Amino acid sequence: MPHVGVCEDDPALRSVLTRALRAMGHDPVVVATAAEALRAFGRARPEVMVLDIGLPDADGRDLCLALRAAGLDAPVLFLTARDAMHDKIAGFEAGADDYLTKPFDLDELRVRLDALLRRTPAPSAGAGDGPVLDPARHALVRGDDEVPLTPTEFRLLGRLMAEPSAVVRRNALVAAAWPHGAIVSDNTLDSYVRRIRKKLEPLGLTDISTVRGVGYRWQ
Ligand code: CA
Repeated sequence: MPHVGVCEDDPALRSVLTRALRAMGHDPVVVATAAEALRAFGRARPEVMVLDIGLPDADGRDLCLALRAAGLDAPVLFLTARDAMHDKIAGFEAGADDYLTKPFDLDELRVRLDALLRRTPAPSAGAGDGPVLDPARHALVRGDDEVPLTPTEFRLLGRLMAEPSAVVRRNALVAAAWPHGAIVSDNTLDSYVRRIRKKLEPLGLTDISTVRGVGYRWQ
Protein backbone atom coordinates (compact mmCIF):
# COMPACT_ATOMS: atom_id res chain seq x y z
CA MET A 1 0.00 0.00 0.00
CA PRO A 2 1.49 3.35 -0.96
CA HIS A 3 2.11 5.70 1.94
CA VAL A 4 0.45 9.05 1.37
CA GLY A 5 1.60 11.87 3.68
CA VAL A 6 -1.11 14.42 4.44
CA CYS A 7 -0.56 17.70 6.29
CA GLU A 8 -3.85 19.55 6.84
CA ASP A 9 -4.87 21.52 9.92
CA ASP A 10 -8.65 21.43 9.37
CA PRO A 11 -9.86 18.47 11.51
CA ALA A 12 -12.98 17.82 9.39
CA LEU A 13 -11.02 17.76 6.13
CA ARG A 14 -8.33 15.67 7.80
CA SER A 15 -10.79 12.91 8.70
CA VAL A 16 -12.48 13.04 5.27
CA LEU A 17 -9.05 12.66 3.65
CA THR A 18 -8.01 9.83 5.97
CA ARG A 19 -11.17 7.85 5.18
CA ALA A 20 -11.03 8.60 1.46
CA LEU A 21 -7.36 7.64 1.13
CA ARG A 22 -7.93 4.35 2.96
CA ALA A 23 -10.88 3.62 0.66
CA MET A 24 -8.57 4.29 -2.32
CA GLY A 25 -6.17 1.63 -1.01
CA HIS A 26 -3.54 4.01 0.36
CA ASP A 27 -1.88 4.01 3.76
CA PRO A 28 -2.27 7.63 4.93
CA VAL A 29 0.12 9.28 7.38
CA VAL A 30 -1.91 12.27 8.51
CA VAL A 31 -0.63 15.24 10.54
CA ALA A 32 -1.87 18.75 11.35
CA THR A 33 1.27 20.91 11.50
CA ALA A 34 4.47 21.49 9.54
CA ALA A 35 6.59 20.43 12.51
CA GLU A 36 4.76 17.09 12.74
CA ALA A 37 5.02 16.62 8.97
CA LEU A 38 8.80 16.95 9.04
CA ARG A 39 9.05 14.34 11.79
CA ALA A 40 6.39 11.88 10.57
CA PHE A 41 7.15 12.06 6.82
CA GLY A 42 10.88 11.78 7.57
CA ARG A 43 10.15 8.44 9.21
CA ALA A 44 7.40 7.13 6.89
CA ARG A 45 9.03 8.31 3.60
CA PRO A 46 5.63 8.67 1.84
CA GLU A 47 5.44 8.03 -1.91
CA VAL A 48 3.34 11.15 -2.37
CA MET A 49 2.65 14.13 -0.09
CA VAL A 50 -0.51 16.27 0.15
CA LEU A 51 0.18 19.63 1.81
CA ASP A 52 -2.20 22.36 2.85
CA ILE A 53 -0.73 25.81 2.15
CA GLY A 54 -2.36 27.60 5.11
CA LEU A 55 -0.91 25.74 8.11
CA PRO A 56 -0.96 27.08 11.68
CA ASP A 57 2.81 26.99 12.17
CA ALA A 58 4.18 27.58 8.67
CA ASP A 59 3.36 28.31 5.05
CA GLY A 60 2.86 24.96 3.28
CA ARG A 61 5.24 26.11 0.54
CA ASP A 62 8.00 26.65 3.11
CA LEU A 63 7.20 23.19 4.48
CA CYS A 64 7.61 21.79 0.97
CA LEU A 65 11.03 23.43 0.64
CA ALA A 66 12.05 22.04 4.03
CA LEU A 67 10.88 18.52 3.11
CA ARG A 68 12.80 18.70 -0.16
CA ALA A 69 15.88 20.01 1.64
CA ALA A 70 15.55 17.06 4.06
CA GLY A 71 15.85 14.69 1.11
CA LEU A 72 12.17 13.81 0.63
CA ASP A 73 11.65 13.91 -3.11
CA ALA A 74 8.19 12.33 -3.39
CA PRO A 75 5.72 14.33 -5.53
CA VAL A 76 3.78 17.05 -3.70
CA LEU A 77 0.16 18.02 -4.25
CA PHE A 78 -0.80 21.33 -2.64
CA LEU A 79 -4.26 21.96 -1.24
CA THR A 80 -5.18 25.59 -1.17
CA ALA A 81 -8.14 27.83 -0.67
CA ARG A 82 -6.33 30.49 -2.65
CA ASP A 83 -6.60 30.47 -6.39
CA ALA A 84 -4.60 33.59 -7.20
CA MET A 85 -2.19 32.89 -10.04
CA HIS A 86 0.90 34.18 -8.25
CA ASP A 87 0.23 31.75 -5.40
CA LYS A 88 0.09 28.84 -7.83
CA ILE A 89 3.34 29.85 -9.50
CA ALA A 90 5.04 30.32 -6.13
CA GLY A 91 3.80 26.84 -5.16
CA PHE A 92 5.41 25.24 -8.17
CA GLU A 93 8.64 27.14 -7.54
CA ALA A 94 8.60 25.70 -4.02
CA GLY A 95 8.75 22.22 -5.55
CA ALA A 96 5.08 21.29 -5.91
CA ASP A 97 4.01 18.90 -8.64
CA ASP A 98 0.29 19.62 -8.65
CA TYR A 99 -2.44 21.72 -7.13
CA LEU A 100 -6.03 21.35 -5.91
CA THR A 101 -8.12 24.33 -4.95
CA LYS A 102 -10.55 23.85 -2.06
CA PRO A 103 -13.29 22.76 -2.12
CA PHE A 104 -12.35 19.80 -4.29
CA ASP A 105 -13.95 16.59 -5.41
CA LEU A 106 -12.52 13.35 -3.95
CA ASP A 107 -12.57 11.73 -7.41
CA GLU A 108 -10.41 14.58 -8.65
CA LEU A 109 -8.00 13.98 -5.77
CA ARG A 110 -7.84 10.26 -6.61
CA VAL A 111 -7.05 10.91 -10.27
CA ARG A 112 -4.30 13.41 -9.41
CA LEU A 113 -2.74 11.15 -6.76
CA ASP A 114 -2.72 8.18 -9.13
CA ALA A 115 -0.97 10.31 -11.75
CA LEU A 116 1.64 11.47 -9.23
CA LEU A 117 2.19 7.93 -7.90
CA ARG A 118 2.91 6.72 -11.42
CA ARG A 119 5.94 9.01 -11.54
CA THR A 120 7.17 8.55 -7.99
CA PRO A 121 10.98 8.35 -7.94
CA ALA A 122 12.78 5.60 -6.07
CA PRO A 123 12.99 6.48 -2.37
CA SER A 124 16.17 8.41 -1.66
CA ALA A 125 18.60 7.67 1.11
CA GLY A 126 17.65 10.83 3.00
CA ALA A 127 19.84 13.64 4.21
CA GLY A 128 21.27 11.84 7.25
CA ASP A 129 22.38 14.17 10.03
CA GLY A 130 23.07 17.22 7.89
CA PRO A 131 21.43 20.59 8.47
CA VAL A 132 17.63 20.77 8.12
CA LEU A 133 15.27 23.66 7.51
CA ASP A 134 12.57 24.52 10.06
CA PRO A 135 9.68 26.11 8.15
CA ALA A 136 7.85 27.17 11.32
CA ARG A 137 10.73 29.26 12.64
CA HIS A 138 12.41 30.01 9.30
CA ALA A 139 15.66 28.61 10.59
CA LEU A 140 18.43 26.25 9.57
CA VAL A 141 18.97 23.69 12.33
CA ARG A 142 21.84 21.30 12.83
CA GLY A 143 21.85 19.42 16.11
CA ASP A 144 21.66 22.07 18.84
CA ASP A 145 22.70 24.90 16.53
CA GLU A 146 20.06 27.10 14.99
CA VAL A 147 20.58 29.85 12.42
CA PRO A 148 17.61 32.23 12.17
CA LEU A 149 16.79 33.30 8.62
CA THR A 150 14.43 35.88 7.16
CA PRO A 151 11.56 34.38 5.09
CA THR A 152 13.34 35.44 1.87
CA GLU A 153 16.65 33.93 3.00
CA PHE A 154 14.76 30.76 4.01
CA ARG A 155 13.17 30.35 0.56
CA LEU A 156 16.45 31.09 -1.21
CA LEU A 157 18.41 28.57 0.86
CA GLY A 158 15.55 26.03 0.64
CA ARG A 159 15.58 26.24 -3.16
CA LEU A 160 19.34 25.61 -3.18
CA MET A 161 19.24 22.77 -0.65
CA ALA A 162 16.35 21.08 -2.47
CA GLU A 163 18.72 20.23 -5.34
CA PRO A 164 22.08 19.44 -3.75
CA SER A 165 25.04 19.49 -6.14
CA ALA A 166 22.93 21.03 -8.92
CA VAL A 167 23.53 24.51 -10.26
CA VAL A 168 20.35 26.49 -9.58
CA ARG A 169 19.95 29.32 -12.06
CA ARG A 170 19.62 32.89 -10.89
CA ASN A 171 16.08 33.30 -12.26
CA ALA A 172 14.89 30.12 -10.48
CA LEU A 173 16.36 31.42 -7.21
CA VAL A 174 14.67 34.80 -7.64
CA ALA A 175 11.32 33.15 -8.45
CA ALA A 176 11.52 30.96 -5.34
CA ALA A 177 12.75 33.63 -2.94
CA TRP A 178 10.51 36.48 -4.13
CA PRO A 179 7.32 34.56 -5.04
CA HIS A 180 5.20 37.61 -5.71
CA GLY A 181 6.99 38.58 -8.89
CA ALA A 182 9.15 41.36 -7.46
CA ILE A 183 11.76 42.87 -9.76
CA VAL A 184 15.03 41.77 -8.19
CA SER A 185 18.42 42.95 -9.41
CA ASP A 186 21.46 40.67 -9.67
CA ASN A 187 23.06 42.71 -6.88
CA THR A 188 20.15 42.04 -4.54
CA LEU A 189 20.32 38.28 -5.12
CA ASP A 190 24.09 38.30 -4.57
CA SER A 191 23.82 40.30 -1.37
CA TYR A 192 21.19 37.89 0.01
CA VAL A 193 23.50 34.97 -0.75
CA ARG A 194 26.37 36.83 0.98
CA ARG A 195 24.19 37.32 4.06
CA ILE A 196 23.22 33.63 4.14
CA ARG A 197 26.88 32.59 3.79
CA LYS A 198 27.82 34.86 6.68
CA LYS A 199 25.07 33.37 8.85
CA LEU A 200 26.13 29.78 8.06
CA GLU A 201 29.86 30.42 8.60
CA PRO A 202 29.84 29.98 12.41
CA LEU A 203 28.52 26.42 11.86
CA GLY A 204 31.37 25.70 9.49
CA LEU A 205 28.91 25.45 6.60
CA THR A 206 30.55 26.76 3.44
CA ASP A 207 28.35 24.82 1.06
CA ILE A 208 27.13 27.59 -1.24
CA SER A 209 29.36 27.97 -4.24
CA THR A 210 29.06 30.56 -6.97
CA VAL A 211 28.78 29.45 -10.57
CA ARG A 212 29.72 32.66 -12.32
CA GLY A 213 27.14 33.98 -14.73
CA VAL A 214 24.77 31.06 -14.07
CA GLY A 215 23.73 30.79 -10.45
CA TYR A 216 24.61 29.06 -7.21
CA ARG A 217 25.10 25.52 -5.97
CA TRP A 218 24.59 23.84 -2.58
CA GLN A 219 27.55 21.47 -1.87
CA1 CA B 1 -5.41 25.33 6.56
